[in-house]
Amino acid sequence: DQQRDRKRILFVSYTAMLGGGELCLLDFAKAYRDSSEVLLLTDGVLKTRLESLGVRVNLLTSSKRSLAAVKASSGLASLKSIGELWRLGRQVAQKSKDFDLIHANNQKGFVVAAIARFLGGAPVVWHLHDILTADIFSPLNRRIAVTLANWCATRVMVNSQATADAFIAAGGNSRLLRTVHNGFDSEVFDRVKDNQAGLREELRIPRDRPLVGIFSRISYWKGQQVLLEAAMQLPNVHLLLVGDALFGEAEYAERLKNMAMQDSLKGRVHWLGFHEDIPALMKACDLIVHCSTAPEPFGRVVVEAQLAKRPAIATIGGGTSEIIEDRVTGLLIPANDPQLLAQAIQDILSDRDFANKLTAAAYEQAKTKFSISSVCAEFEMAIAGI
Ligand code: UDP
Repeated sequence: DQQRDRKRILFVSYTAMLGGGELCLLDFAKAYRDSSEVLLLTDGVLKTRLESLGVRVNLLTSSKRSLAAVKASSGLASLKSIGELWRLGRQVAQKSKDFDLIHANNQKGFVVAAIARFLGGAPVVWHLHDILTADIFSPLNRRIAVTLANWCATRVMVNSQATADAFIAAGGNSRLLRTVHNGFDSEVFDRVKDNQAGLREELRIPRDRPLVGIFSRISYWKGQQVLLEAAMQLPNVHLLLVGDALFGEAEYAERLKNMAMQDSLKGRVHWLGFHEDIPALMKACDLIVHCSTAPEPFGRVVVEAQLAKRPAIATIGGGTSEIIEDRVTGLLIPANDPQLLAQAIQDILSDRDFANKLTAAAYEQAKTKFSISSVCAEFEMAIAGI
């Protein structure tokens, strides 16, 4: 660790599941662990992951019934949930007296932090990991979040230009914005052996069959169905589906399972559920697809594929287009087009030199641009002067 100015940060996270935003938090919480603390507003695996990194973690206790109301409400504005958010805000305000700033890692966490600020708590930095669009956020939710940000956030960290643009388009004050990318430790990927024959054997995938991986939580907008449809046209290709339905969506998971049972795919879809060992699983694949149906705010999986030295095909737009230069560090394809996705998969599988060129260029870029030290420097710049 370099000499940091050891800001005392109270990290606040509403969710404790391991989505991309929470995985990103692990790195910053670790970097500031000597002087900081994470406050979780719900319990989950994030707690043990943080503790294993030596980070101080506290769980704000909450009356179960009212917290369930916050979780169940799709918006932030239900009266029951407002009462509970207010109560949490009061607790965070009290707690934040020992810190220089509150870092809110998700939208509900930010609302709680904003209330804390209003009640005399420490300055608030909102780490925005999402593109604020109508698809994902209701107009009311978006308005509340952006209005609160303009009123009481000292800074808003964004993970890509796409996230920044959407914040401004929703009425956010551009002067608050600072870019802080997600970080990755390339050595974790380098340490994993390239030959993962054992894993393929375990899954009974014949040696001569290409394996295409998709590493995303199971959610309609992550586009697993697009890859399954593309694979129907590629009879040799096997698919590795890694990830779970983190935030509901059991129905969609069921639909995918039914698709995978069809004759045109039977025996070729390998469903692994959630795994922590992403590098080894990626290295068992020949190619990695990230075919979200809407623009990704960042797209961690794409950088991970690049560090695993596997060619990546991803949907054009959003943060993905800031990570992949088409045909230089990966392939970009339009959303929701199984035909073009199938073609792109063929292009890569049929031309090894092309694939090698892509992976070599992508690895170099990912290793420097998204290293833990460079994103920590971005983070530090973003909170300078607070
Ligand atoms: N991931 C994981 N295990 C899984 C599936 C996904 O650890 O079974 C990780 C994946 O490696 C990536 C993150 O979850 O680091 C997902 O981040 P991304 O930005 O791709 O999407 P998000 O979930 O944030 O929308």
